[in-house]
Amino acid sequence: VAKNSDTLVLGIDLGGTKILSAVVNDHGGIVARDHSVTPAALGQEAVIEAIIFSVHRVLDQAGLPLARLAAVGIGAPGPLNPETGILFTAPNLPGWHDVPLRDIIERKLGLKGYLVNDANAAAFGEFFFGAGRGSRNLVYITVSTGIGGGIIVDGKLYSGANGSAAELGHMTIDDDGPLCNCGNKGCWEVLASGTAMARNARDQIRAGRGSTILDLAGGDLEKVTARIIHTAALQGDALARELISRTAYYLGVGLGNIINIFNPEVIVIGGGVSLMGEILLKPAWEIAGSRAYKDAFLAARFLPAALGRDSGVLGAAAMALQMSRQP
Ligand SMILES: [Zn+2]
Repeated sequence: VAKNSDTLVLGIDLGGTKILSAVVNDHGGIVARDHSVTPAALGQEAVIEAIIFSVHRVLDQAGLPLARLAAVGIGAPGPLNPETGILFTAPNLPGWHDVPLRDIIERKLGLKGYLVNDANAAAFGEFFFGAGRGSRNLVYITVSTGIGGGIIVDGKLYSGANGSAAELGHMTIDDDGPLCNCGNKGCWEVLASGTAMARNARDQIRAGRGSTILDLAGGDLEKVTARIIHTAALQGDALARELISRTAYYLGVGLGNIINIFNPEVIVIGGGVSLMGEILLKPAWEIAGSRAYKDAFLAARFLPAALGRDSGVLGAAAMALQMSRQP
């Protein structure tokens, strides 16, 4: 329930399959939320219409007029420029090129808006309301099918010259490693993501390695996922344990780089693969410690994300809050 004294903002987390809208107060409390399907195949107009519908539904739920909101933050997939509010492309939104999404939403809602990349939004959410609350320098990584991230320097989201910063998943870890979707070789995400783990499992099993992973995937190699590998590891499967330990190694190498470059107080790790917990994160942090400068390593805390699936929408809302406080 919203109190009269609360500053309220709107957070929108636009994804390729789902739209999440939320009314958020200045303590990070979600006053109301709405989940909608993204009609991605119907094109840009239909998606924007769906966003506006979702906003009106969430306001109805909260029993609030639009005028009660201070600003709107929009987290969107794909490269964008937060200064101009233009979304360059979005891999899961076909036909979107150079869309002035912030201005469109501002015009339709009559609210001041802020556009932020979804991984950066999650980073800002964890910094402002989540695991990194109270810190000034934070690096967030999300490990799932790929690796994304966000960087907070001295209390502000670092976006770089034109919004392209913090592509942490695409730092080169192995100069002659497997080909990445980005065209480069041996990127962090092609070595340490859930997709990488599943690919390595398939390669090993095809090469004749025995493992319960295949049984757990119903005998279908294409159904192997990081989650299945985790289950097999917990049951004592040797291959699954090796795969997790290899992933931990590469995660640790990347974390060591991040520590040396940013000297963060906090590194927050989120995403589905991170939910494996200790079995993955403990050895990863040990590897990071064995490779990073000691003073920088000792200054850093390594924490699991606290906001779960709400990190993006809360981060978008937090950006709107921060903006609405600036003169
Ligand atoms: Zn890459």
